[in-house]
Amino acid sequence: MSENPNPEPVPLPPPLRILTENEWVGALSAAEPFIGTREPERTNVQYCIGAALGSLGLFRWPPRPANPVSCSAMKLIWQTETETDRTFLGAWLQCAEAPDHDSRHRSEDGTQPQWSDGVPGSMPAGPPYPWTA
Ligand SMILES: [Zn+2]
Repeated sequence: MSENPNPEPVPLPPPLRILTENEWVGALSAAEPFIGTREPERTNVQYCIGAALGSLGLFRWPPRPANPVSCSAMKLIWQTETETDRTFLGAWLQCAEAPDHDSRHRSEDGTQPQWSDGVPGSMPAGPPYPWTA
């Protein structure tokens, strides 16, 4: 499968929504006067803001893929079944398969297929994206 030149996340069922990149960056910018820009505080605050917005059904824009050598497809955790799972609400999972594999079998751990392109909250593989947050 070839990479999508302009990957976009697949929308969630309303009223749930994935924020635009500008909205997400705006939320982070609004918090910066209170938290500064140093790590790891900045990353922790991003998790905090993401969790708070996720509890309202608003989810962050997908982050830059953490692993640059594996497939860049991603999946948002927007449905949870247990309280423990809620810890991961709003997190984006990156596919661990090799690039250019079958888009019907995305997998975070590289073993069992966990999602396919086109399901709500998924983002197809793409080239490096100019993420700003
Ligand atoms: Zn993949």
